[in-house]
Amino acid sequence: MAGSSCRRCDDAGLVESAKQKVGSGRTATPVGVGIPGAESLTTGLIKNANSTWLIGQPLRADLEAALGRPVRLANDANCFALSEATDGAAAGAEVVFGVILGTGVGGGIVVDGKVLVGANAIAGEWGHNPLPGAEPVHPPCYCGRSGCVETFLSGPALRADGGAENVAAMARYEQRLARALAQVINILDPDVIVLGGGLSNLDRLYDRVPRLWGEQVFSDAVATRLVKNRHGDSSGVRGAAWLWPKQQE
Ligand SMILES: [Zn+2]
Repeated sequence: MAGSSCRRCDDAGLVESAKQKVGSGRTATPVGVGIPGAESLTTGLIKNANSTWLIGQPLRADLEAALGRPVRLANDANCFALSEATDGAAAGAEVVFGVILGTGVGGGIVVDGKVLVGANAIAGEWGHNPLPGAEPVHPPCYCGRSGCVETFLSGPALRADGGAENVAAMARYEQRLARALAQVINILDPDVIVLGGGLSNLDRLYDRVPRLWGEQVFSDAVATRLVKNRHGDSSGVRGAAWLWPKQQE
Protein backbone atom coordinates (compact mmCIF):
# COMPACT_ATOMS: atom_id res chain seq x y z
CA MET A 1 0.00 0.00 0.00
CA ALA A 2 2.69 2.45 0.91
CA GLY A 3 4.56 2.00 -2.31
CA SER A 4 1.74 1.85 -4.79
CA SER A 5 -1.23 3.89 -3.74
CA CYS A 6 -0.04 7.21 -2.40
CA ARG A 7 0.23 10.06 -4.80
CA ARG A 8 2.06 12.24 -2.30
CA CYS A 9 4.81 10.21 -0.74
CA ASP A 10 4.57 11.47 2.80
CA ASP A 11 2.62 10.35 5.83
CA ALA A 12 -0.27 12.76 5.25
CA GLY A 13 -0.52 11.76 1.60
CA LEU A 14 -0.61 8.09 2.48
CA VAL A 15 -3.26 8.60 5.17
CA GLU A 16 -5.45 10.66 2.81
CA SER A 17 -5.09 8.03 0.10
CA ALA A 18 -6.12 5.29 2.52
CA LYS A 19 -9.14 7.33 3.62
CA GLN A 20 -10.33 7.72 0.04
CA LYS A 21 -10.00 4.00 -0.65
CA VAL A 22 -11.39 2.63 2.62
CA GLY A 23 -13.79 5.36 3.76
CA SER A 24 -14.13 6.52 7.34
CA GLY A 25 -17.31 4.77 8.53
CA ARG A 26 -17.11 3.49 12.09
CA THR A 27 -18.91 0.21 11.50
CA ALA A 28 -16.77 -1.13 8.69
CA THR A 29 -14.24 -3.93 9.07
CA PRO A 30 -10.87 -3.31 10.65
CA VAL A 31 -7.83 -2.57 8.54
CA GLY A 32 -4.49 -4.34 8.38
CA VAL A 33 -1.62 -2.57 6.65
CA GLY A 34 1.70 -3.99 5.51
CA ILE A 35 4.46 -1.40 5.65
CA PRO A 36 8.10 -1.41 4.63
CA GLY A 37 9.54 -1.09 8.12
CA ALA A 38 8.16 -1.59 11.60
CA GLU A 39 6.31 0.26 14.33
CA SER A 40 8.58 1.02 17.28
CA LEU A 41 7.35 -0.85 20.34
CA THR A 42 8.53 2.02 22.54
CA THR A 43 7.37 5.12 20.63
CA GLY A 44 4.71 3.87 18.19
CA LEU A 45 6.58 5.67 15.42
CA ILE A 46 7.72 4.00 12.20
CA LYS A 47 11.32 2.81 12.04
CA ASN A 48 13.50 0.84 9.63
CA ALA A 49 11.56 1.87 6.51
CA ASN A 50 13.42 1.94 3.22
CA SER A 51 10.66 4.35 2.18
CA THR A 52 12.54 6.70 4.47
CA TRP A 53 9.79 9.36 4.44
CA LEU A 54 7.82 7.02 6.74
CA ILE A 55 10.52 6.98 9.43
CA GLY A 56 9.46 8.79 12.59
CA GLN A 57 5.80 9.10 11.53
CA PRO A 58 2.92 8.06 13.83
CA LEU A 59 1.35 6.16 10.93
CA ARG A 60 -1.01 3.89 12.87
CA ALA A 61 -2.41 6.73 14.97
CA ASP A 62 -2.87 8.87 11.85
CA LEU A 63 -4.62 6.05 9.98
CA GLU A 64 -6.89 5.22 12.92
CA ALA A 65 -7.89 8.87 13.26
CA ALA A 66 -8.57 9.22 9.54
CA LEU A 67 -10.39 5.92 9.07
CA GLY A 68 -12.29 5.86 12.38
CA ARG A 69 -11.47 2.24 13.08
CA PRO A 70 -8.66 0.14 14.54
CA VAL A 71 -5.65 -0.40 12.34
CA ARG A 72 -2.91 -2.99 12.65
CA LEU A 73 0.45 -2.40 11.05
CA ALA A 74 2.94 -5.09 10.21
CA ASN A 75 6.18 -5.31 8.36
CA ASP A 76 5.53 -6.08 4.68
CA ALA A 77 7.94 -9.01 4.68
CA ASN A 78 6.11 -10.45 7.70
CA CYS A 79 2.83 -10.06 5.78
CA PHE A 80 4.39 -11.79 2.79
CA ALA A 81 5.69 -14.67 4.90
CA LEU A 82 2.32 -15.06 6.62
CA SER A 83 0.42 -15.14 3.33
CA GLU A 84 2.70 -17.75 1.78
CA ALA A 85 2.76 -19.84 4.97
CA THR A 86 -1.02 -19.72 5.33
CA ASP A 87 -2.12 -20.82 1.86
CA GLY A 88 0.77 -20.17 -0.46
CA ALA A 89 3.99 -21.82 -1.52
CA ALA A 90 4.93 -22.71 2.07
CA ALA A 91 1.51 -23.96 3.20
CA GLY A 92 1.84 -26.76 5.73
CA ALA A 93 5.43 -25.96 6.68
CA GLU A 94 6.20 -25.48 10.36
CA VAL A 95 8.96 -22.86 10.09
CA VAL A 96 8.92 -20.45 7.15
CA PHE A 97 11.32 -17.67 6.24
CA GLY A 98 9.83 -15.24 3.75
CA VAL A 99 12.27 -13.08 1.80
CA ILE A 100 11.58 -9.92 -0.17
CA LEU A 101 14.15 -9.30 -2.88
CA GLY A 102 13.02 -6.04 -4.41
CA THR A 103 13.84 -2.37 -4.06
CA GLY A 104 14.90 -3.37 -0.58
CA VAL A 105 15.65 -6.70 1.07
CA GLY A 106 13.54 -7.83 3.98
CA GLY A 107 12.57 -11.01 5.74
CA GLY A 108 9.81 -12.37 7.91
CA ILE A 109 9.43 -15.48 10.06
CA VAL A 110 6.29 -17.57 10.52
CA VAL A 111 6.25 -20.45 13.00
CA ASP A 112 3.21 -22.73 13.25
CA GLY A 113 1.15 -20.26 11.23
CA LYS A 114 2.00 -17.22 13.36
CA VAL A 115 4.28 -14.29 12.60
CA LEU A 116 7.25 -14.06 14.94
CA VAL A 117 7.45 -10.33 15.67
CA GLY A 118 10.28 -10.34 18.19
CA ALA A 119 11.20 -8.22 21.20
CA ASN A 120 12.26 -5.31 18.96
CA ALA A 121 9.78 -5.98 16.13
CA ILE A 122 12.66 -6.85 13.82
CA ALA A 123 12.58 -10.66 13.69
CA GLY A 124 13.75 -11.79 10.27
CA GLU A 125 15.34 -8.47 9.30
CA TRP A 126 18.41 -10.00 7.73
CA GLY A 127 18.68 -7.28 5.06
CA HIS A 128 20.79 -5.10 7.30
CA ASN A 129 23.17 -7.75 8.52
CA PRO A 130 26.61 -7.48 6.95
CA LEU A 131 26.84 -9.74 3.91
CA PRO A 132 29.02 -12.67 5.05
CA GLY A 133 32.15 -13.47 3.07
CA ALA A 134 34.85 -11.32 1.53
CA GLU A 135 33.76 -8.48 -0.75
CA PRO A 136 36.13 -5.88 -2.20
CA VAL A 137 33.64 -3.05 -1.77
CA HIS A 138 31.11 -2.42 1.00
CA PRO A 139 28.49 -0.07 -0.44
CA PRO A 140 26.87 2.48 1.88
CA CYS A 141 23.30 1.73 2.98
CA TYR A 142 20.42 4.08 3.84
CA CYS A 143 20.46 2.62 7.36
CA GLY A 144 23.79 4.29 8.06
CA ARG A 145 25.91 1.15 7.87
CA SER A 146 27.72 -0.26 4.86
CA GLY A 147 27.99 -3.66 3.22
CA CYS A 148 24.48 -4.67 4.31
CA VAL A 149 22.91 -7.71 2.62
CA GLU A 150 20.45 -5.27 1.00
CA THR A 151 23.26 -3.34 -0.70
CA PHE A 152 24.21 -6.54 -2.60
CA LEU A 153 20.90 -8.36 -3.07
CA SER A 154 18.34 -5.65 -3.88
CA GLY A 155 17.13 -5.03 -7.43
CA PRO A 156 19.07 -1.75 -7.72
CA ALA A 157 22.22 -3.54 -6.48
CA LEU A 158 21.94 -6.25 -9.14
CA ARG A 159 21.33 -3.63 -11.83
CA ALA A 160 24.36 -1.66 -10.67
CA ASP A 161 26.47 -4.81 -10.92
CA GLY A 162 25.45 -5.47 -14.54
CA GLY A 163 21.88 -6.76 -14.30
CA ALA A 164 20.18 -10.13 -14.61
CA GLU A 165 21.30 -10.53 -18.24
CA ASN A 166 24.95 -10.37 -17.21
CA VAL A 167 26.28 -13.89 -16.60
CA ALA A 168 29.06 -12.86 -14.22
CA ALA A 169 26.76 -10.55 -12.26
CA MET A 170 24.20 -13.35 -11.83
CA ALA A 171 26.90 -15.77 -10.68
CA ARG A 172 28.00 -13.22 -8.06
CA TYR A 173 24.39 -12.60 -7.07
CA GLU A 174 23.70 -16.32 -6.57
CA GLN A 175 26.85 -16.78 -4.49
CA ARG A 176 25.93 -13.82 -2.29
CA LEU A 177 22.33 -14.94 -1.86
CA ALA A 178 23.50 -18.45 -0.96
CA ARG A 179 25.92 -17.10 1.66
CA ALA A 180 23.32 -14.78 3.15
CA LEU A 181 20.62 -17.47 3.29
CA ALA A 182 23.04 -20.04 4.76
CA GLN A 183 23.35 -17.80 7.83
CA VAL A 184 19.58 -17.72 8.16
CA ILE A 185 19.46 -21.51 7.89
CA ASN A 186 22.13 -21.90 10.58
CA ILE A 187 20.09 -19.77 12.99
CA LEU A 188 16.46 -20.46 12.14
CA ASP A 189 16.69 -23.81 10.30
CA PRO A 190 13.47 -23.18 8.34
CA ASP A 191 11.59 -25.90 6.47
CA VAL A 192 10.91 -23.52 3.60
CA ILE A 193 12.38 -20.24 2.36
CA VAL A 194 9.96 -18.38 0.06
CA LEU A 195 11.22 -15.66 -2.23
CA GLY A 196 9.13 -12.62 -3.13
CA GLY A 197 9.75 -9.25 -4.73
CA GLY A 198 10.82 -8.56 -8.29
CA LEU A 199 13.95 -10.71 -8.22
CA SER A 200 11.94 -13.77 -7.15
CA ASN A 201 10.98 -14.02 -10.83
CA LEU A 202 14.53 -15.12 -11.70
CA ASP A 203 13.70 -18.81 -11.95
CA ARG A 204 17.32 -19.96 -12.01
CA LEU A 205 17.72 -18.94 -8.34
CA TYR A 206 15.65 -21.91 -7.15
CA ASP A 207 18.04 -24.38 -8.76
CA ARG A 208 21.36 -22.60 -8.38
CA VAL A 209 21.23 -21.18 -4.86
CA PRO A 210 20.47 -24.46 -3.01
CA ARG A 211 23.44 -26.01 -4.86
CA LEU A 212 25.66 -23.29 -3.40
CA TRP A 213 24.42 -22.83 0.17
CA GLY A 214 25.49 -26.30 1.37
CA GLU A 215 29.10 -25.16 1.75
CA GLN A 216 28.05 -22.62 4.38
CA VAL A 217 25.35 -24.56 6.24
CA PHE A 218 26.45 -26.45 9.35
CA SER A 219 24.82 -29.72 8.35
CA ASP A 220 25.70 -32.81 6.31
CA ALA A 221 22.65 -32.25 4.11
CA VAL A 222 20.24 -29.33 3.74
CA ALA A 223 16.55 -30.23 3.72
CA THR A 224 15.39 -26.60 3.56
CA ARG A 225 13.47 -25.92 0.34
CA LEU A 226 13.85 -22.67 -1.63
CA VAL A 227 10.59 -21.89 -3.43
CA LYS A 228 8.96 -19.13 -5.43
CA ASN A 229 5.93 -17.39 -3.95
CA ARG A 230 2.46 -18.45 -5.07
CA HIS A 231 0.59 -15.19 -4.61
CA GLY A 232 3.02 -12.80 -6.24
CA ASP A 233 2.58 -9.10 -5.61
CA SER A 234 -0.67 -9.66 -3.72
CA SER A 235 1.03 -11.70 -1.00
CA GLY A 236 1.85 -8.70 1.17
CA VAL A 237 -1.71 -7.38 1.01
CA ARG A 238 -3.15 -10.83 1.69
CA GLY A 239 -0.88 -11.18 4.73
CA ALA A 240 -1.97 -7.80 6.03
CA ALA A 241 -5.57 -9.00 5.88
CA TRP A 242 -4.60 -12.08 7.91
CA LEU A 243 -3.50 -9.72 10.70
CA TRP A 244 -7.11 -9.72 11.87
CA PRO A 245 -8.13 -13.25 12.88
CA LYS A 246 -11.50 -14.23 11.46
CA GLN A 247 -13.32 -14.30 14.81
CA GLN A 248 -12.57 -10.61 15.37
CA GLU A 249 -14.11 -9.43 12.11
ZN1 LIG B 1 21.56 -1.31 5.92
